[in-house]
Amino acid sequence: MLVYSTLSREKEEFKPIKGKIVKMFVCGPTVYDYPHIGHAKTYVAMDVVARYLRFKGYSVFYVQNITDIDDKIINRAREMNIKAEELADRFLRIYYEDMEKLNVKSVNLFARATQHVEEIIEQTEMLIEKGFAYESNGNVYFDVSKFSDFGKLSGQKKEELIAGARVEVDENKKSPEDFALWKSMKEGEPFWNSPWGRGRPGWHIEDTAISLNYLGESYDVHGGGIDLIFPHHEAEVAIAESLTGKKPFVRYWLHTGFLLVNGEKMAKSLGNFLTIRGILEKYEPMTLRFFLLYAHYRSPIDFSYELLNEADEAYKRLDTSFRRAQRSEGTDKEGGEDRELKETLLSCKHRFFEAMDDDFNTREAIAALFPLAKAINVSPLSDVETVSEVRSFIKDVSEILGLFESKEEKNIKPEIIDAILDIRKMLREEKRYDLADRIRAKLSECGIEIEDSGKETRWKIS
Ligand code: AMP
Repeated sequence: MLVYSTLSREKEEFKPIKGKIVKMFVCGPTVYDYPHIGHAKTYVAMDVVARYLRFKGYSVFYVQNITDIDDKIINRAREMNIKAEELADRFLRIYYEDMEKLNVKSVNLFARATQHVEEIIEQTEMLIEKGFAYESNGNVYFDVSKFSDFGKLSGQKKEELIAGARVEVDENKKSPEDFALWKSMKEGEPFWNSPWGRGRPGWHIEDTAISLNYLGESYDVHGGGIDLIFPHHEAEVAIAESLTGKKPFVRYWLHTGFLLVNGEKMAKSLGNFLTIRGILEKYEPMTLRFFLLYAHYRSPIDFSYELLNEADEAYKRLDTSFRRAQRSEGTDKEGGEDRELKETLLSCKHRFFEAMDDDFNTREAIAALFPLAKAINVSPLSDVETVSEVRSFIKDVSEILGLFESKEEKNIKPEIIDAILDIRKMLREEKRYDLADRIRAKLSECGIEIEDSGKETRWKIS
C-alpha cells in the first residue's frame, strides 16, 4: 500500500514502526463555534484512513487533541459573557454530535489541551534545560535558530520562513520566527500556575504534550489540513525532535486539501462557512459524507449546491442498488445466470482495492462502484454464490467508507413494502393520486419514506 507523505513529498510503501500496530494522531478542532463542512472534509477523510488501515488488519490507536484554550475561545467567551471553559464545553459537545451523525467513529481517544497542562509545563522546562527555549517576561519561546532542521516539513528555507511567516511583533522574542511555548497571563484571561508565573500554553506544544504522552517518541501517522503544515506541524517537529533527539518524529504526514467556496478556503474567520448542522437540515448525513469522499483527500473541493445535489442523486442511486442486493439471497443454487454480475463484481473489487491502496484514493474507489450498482439493477440476482459475494463486498465497502450501512430494519419485510409500492404504482398509473398519497402518508407513519423519481419509486427507513 502506498501513502503520500508531506515530509518526503512522494508516495511511500506503508510500513509502520512496529509490526501491525499503527499509532495515529490528527489535530482536532479549536472549539469556539459550530464545525463547518471544511472541518468535516478533513475528519471524514482521516476517519476513512483509520478505517481502511483497520480493515487491512492493522491495530490502529487514533488520538485527536482538542484545542480548548486559545485566543479565539477567550475572545468569543468574552463577547458572550461566559467562561472560556463553558464555551469550549458547549462546542466540544456539538463537535462530537456532528461527527457522530457523519459516522466519524474511529477516534480512540480525544485529549483536551487543558487536561494536559502538566505535561506542557514539563516539556517546556525540558526545552529550556536543553537550550532550545528561553524565558522572557513570563513567556517562554522556542528558539528556532537552535533547530537546524526547521523548515524540513514545509520544504522552505529558513530565510523564506522568516519572510513569509505571519509573525506577531513581539519585543519579548529574540527573533520573529520564534514561537510561544508558554504565554504570560493577560488581565482577565484563564491561567495556570507555572515556574514562569501565571499563564497558559502556546498552541504547538499542546499537540506534542499529548502525542508524546500517548503515542511515544516516534509514531506512524499524523494528519490535518494543509494549512497546518506551517507553522503548526513544523513547530511540532522542532519541539518533539529537540526533546527526544529521535528522527523522524512522525513517519507519514498526511495533509488534506481544502474545502473551498468560490476558490477560497472555507473558514470561520473568513465568514464564508456553512456549518455541518446547517447542511444536515436539508441533506442526509450520508449524502454529505459521500460528497466529501467523492474526491481524493489531498484534492480540494470547490463547494456548490449543484455538486452536493449531484452527490445526493449518485449516493441514493448506489444505496438503492446495494440495498436490493443486500435484501436478496439469490434463488438459484446452481448459478449460471449471473455471469455479468460476477464479472463486474470481480473488476469492481479489483479497482476498488487498487484505488484504496494508492494513497486512500476514495474518488477512484467510489467510481469503481457505479458499474457494480448498474449490474445489480439489471441482474436477476439468482446465483446464490455470486449474490453472497456481492453482499460481502458491499459490507466491506461500508465498513471502509462508513457509507451504505444497513439501518436496523425494524422487522420490516422488504417484500411487503415492494408489494405495497407495486399497488401504489398501479394507482398512480390510473391517476388515483389521492389513494397513492394516502399510502405514502401511512408508510411515513410507519417510518418508511418514499421518493418518486419519474416512474421509479425508492424507499428507505427513516
Ligand atoms: P481548526 O478548528 O480551524 O483548528 O481546524 C481543525 C481542522 O480542520 C484542521 O485540520 C484544519 O486544517 C481543518 N480545516 C479547517 N478548515 C478547513 C477547510 N476549509 N477544508 C479542509 N479542512 C479544513
